[in-house]
Amino acid sequence: MIELRTPAEIERMRPAGRFVADVLTALREAADVGVNLLDLDRLAASMIAEQGATSCYVDYHPSFGASPFGKVLCTSVNDAVLHGLPHDYVLRDGDLLSVDFAASVDGWVADSATSLVVGTAAPADLALIDATERALAAAIAVAQPGRTVGDIGHAIGQVARQAGLQINMQFGGHGVGRTMHGDPHVANDGTPGRGYPLRPGLVIAIEPWFLASGDEIYTDADGWTLRSADGSRGAHSEHTVAITPDGPVVLTARD
Ligand code: MG
Repeated sequence: MIELRTPAEIERMRPAGRFVADVLTALREAADVGVNLLDLDRLAASMIAEQGATSCYVDYHPSFGASPFGKVLCTSVNDAVLHGLPHDYVLRDGDLLSVDFAASVDGWVADSATSLVVGTAAPADLALIDATERALAAAIAVAQPGRTVGDIGHAIGQVARQAGLQINMQFGGHGVGRTMHGDPHVANDGTPGRGYPLRPGLVIAIEPWFLASGDEIYTDADGWTLRSADGSRGAHSEHTVAITPDGPVVLTARD
């Protein structure tokens, strides 16, 4: 079921968006060569406690998950691209890290993700991250009343194709509200003008993620982390966006 939010409800979603943005900013600053993924998870957990927020991940246990997630952050490194379960791993020079974070503040959820390279960055990794960021920006630009979910997917797909990247359609964006995952599904490719119409009050997470080659993934033995089938690296950019009569409002915008 697709739920539309009133302007007052969208205002009440802003603190969650700001908090998630602040946590990702802190994580981007903290992530460095020599930092353990578990320390990044602890940093996010301490910010949750300080804020009085609620993690969307710690008890998350969907049908595809082996057990409740148990951490507050997804940390996906190099050939891992989504749902990375934080583990005892110390970041090395040149690692490509994607962090995905969702939390609830005052009963409203926000969800956002960002990728970065720690230490010395390979140009190919920066280009891959840039492609996801450009795809996200292109998708947000068409997140306007009168457009459709297909327009968003098409905008993402066009950036991917121009960058010579393939698109995996298994995992994409979703409605966001009082829970992390709602309708509609927001696929990372689509046909212009098709799919659910973008009405004022719709709040969605838009989340392009690409692999440097191919589009196949598999689940790590940890039961969560999704890795590329061919070992190529992945990147991920996500924002929670409200459709309003005045255009898109990026609730998780970072300063
Ligand atoms: Mg997310």
